[in-house]
This record gives sequence, structure tokens and C-alpha cells, in this order.
Amino acid sequence: MTERVQSVLGSISVDTLGLTLMHEHLKIGYPGWEVDTTLDFDREAELSEAVARLSRLRELGVSTFVDPCPMELARDPDFMADVSRESGVHIICSTGLYIEQGLELAGFPAYFRALGVEQIQRIYTTELREGIGDRRVKPGVIKCATGPHSIGKHEEKALRAGARTALELDVRITTHTTMGSMGNEQLDILLAEGMPAHQIVIGHCDWNPDTAYHRSLLERGCYIGFDGVGIDGLQPDEVRIANLVELIGAGFERQLVLSHDHIGCWHFRPEDAPPTVTHLQSQPKRRFTYLLEEFVPNLLKAGATEGSIDTMLVENPRRYFAGGSL
Ligand SMILES: [Zn+2]
Repeated sequence: MTERVQSVLGSISVDTLGLTLMHEHLKIGYPGWEVDTTLDFDREAELSEAVARLSRLRELGVSTFVDPCPMELARDPDFMADVSRESGVHIICSTGLYIEQGLELAGFPAYFRALGVEQIQRIYTTELREGIGDRRVKPGVIKCATGPHSIGKHEEKALRAGARTALELDVRITTHTTMGSMGNEQLDILLAEGMPAHQIVIGHCDWNPDTAYHRSLLERGCYIGFDGVGIDGLQPDEVRIANLVELIGAGFERQLVLSHDHIGCWHFRPEDAPPTVTHLQSQPKRRFTYLLEEFVPNLLKAGATEGSIDTMLVENPRRYFAGGSL
């Protein structure tokens, strides 16, 4: 248990987290983007766009934006710190690695493939204790990730390193799962390392429409993320809403967290972005405000109460970061 969590601007009380989007991204790049020396960004333009987006969220009542960008996907803690300072929204960034296979974005870096669990743990621990880069921005959460329908050996190393670091430093874990699979296998590894289930969010569970899958995770005591709200290509929101109403009705509202997994901008020249990226970004629901402006009202119409919404958006993030039992 802790009263405090690390934001990109320093340690804050969990009581100040308020309304929290638990899984969003200011920007993302495919692994290796930094090797392209011809790629040029207008950092000031990116910054002013990001500040405008988060300022709008602040007007809607959002206090905290968790950006669990893995290390190799263009994570930029200095950028996050600038956006947080200028928008007034708390941002929590992560240490941790992404998947090794199964999606275009995959690409567990060769450098990390060559390392063992202890070495990866040392890197995570150093980032959490001492911060990242010249400005020593500290992460506040550990990201773990697995591809579809199996856990690769490098993903397993990163899960074990994440769990050991989390236990040693009293930090939480949030995960990426792919295609609504391997949530229980992630938990098997994290719990075997000694992690308490209530200090883990198994992410992207809304990618799977089957509430039997959701219940199989919830009954083990973890949080699950319905954190792809608005991505109809993965799951129509009607299914997300029906699933949420059923799970709330079954008494699981204290273990559900919501977000969009939206990406503010991508590290591509516009003309070089893959069609999947261009398509995703063009969807009208893909914006950081969709959840509060449209999804929550629709969830209320479908039978959820204001109390349940508050539990999922405010109380659960606070309890999770505090590390308190359910
Ligand atoms: Zn994500």
C-alpha cells in the first residue's frame, strides 16, 4: 500500500488522481523509428496539439492520463512532462517492453532479446528509481505485453522482470493482451512471481466479447481493462456496453477500468503511415474525449448507474495505484 504515485512531474497523492483514463498514448512509433535519421518532427507543433487535446480533457473533468507507452514505441517522457505542465493533467508513464510477435507494431528489440530476466529487472528498477533521460522523469507503472494466443520467451522474461520489479518497489503492472487472449496465462506468471492480483490490470480484455473470459480473470482478483473504447474494428461498442452492464450486474464493477487506447500522433511522415494506422486515425470515435462525450452516456442509457461510472473512472484507479485490496 502507498499513498503516492509517480507522475511525470513528480510524486503525487493517489487522492489527487481523480477521474483517470487508464490507457492512452500521446504518441507512438513503430520499433526502429529512431533509426530513420531522415525523419523530422515539429516538436512544438506536436506539443501544442497534445496540450490542446489534454486541456479539453481537463475541461471535461479528467485529472489523470496514464500513458503506458513501452520503451521501444517512441516513449518520450520529456514530452509527456511538458504536456502535463502546460495542460494541468497528471500523466503517468511506464517502464516496460511491448510484444515480440503478432502485430505490425511488434518487435521486441534485439538488444533486449539478448538480456535475461535479472538484467531487464535492473533496467526497469533503475528507471523507476532514478528516472529516464536528462530530466530524470520517473515512470509510475510497469507495462507488460503478450502477442496473440501464445507467450513468447522474451515476453515471459519481461513479465517476470516486471513482476519482480513491481514487488521490490511497490509499483503496479498494467498489461497489453492481443486479440482477447492470454490474460490468464499472464496472470499465471505474475502471480507465480508473487504479485498480488489486485495490483495488476490485465489490459485490452474488451477485444474479447466473451464474458466467460472476463469472469475467469475477475474471479482471480485482478482488474481488467475495457480500454479500447471506440475501436469498433476490434469490437463494436454495443458489445462493450452489453459486456460491461452484465459484469457490473454480476458485482465486478470494482475491478473494471475504462479507456480508449487512443494515440494522439504517430511517428511517420503522413505519406508513409501504413494503411492500418491511417484508417484507425480517420475514425470519428478515435479521440480522447469520446469516452466521456458519448460512450458513458450510452452506458448509462443501457443501465449502468452514475455510481458505477464513478467507481470505474475514479475509485478503481485510485485503489489500484494505492495497491489496496479490492
Ligand atoms: Zn496501448
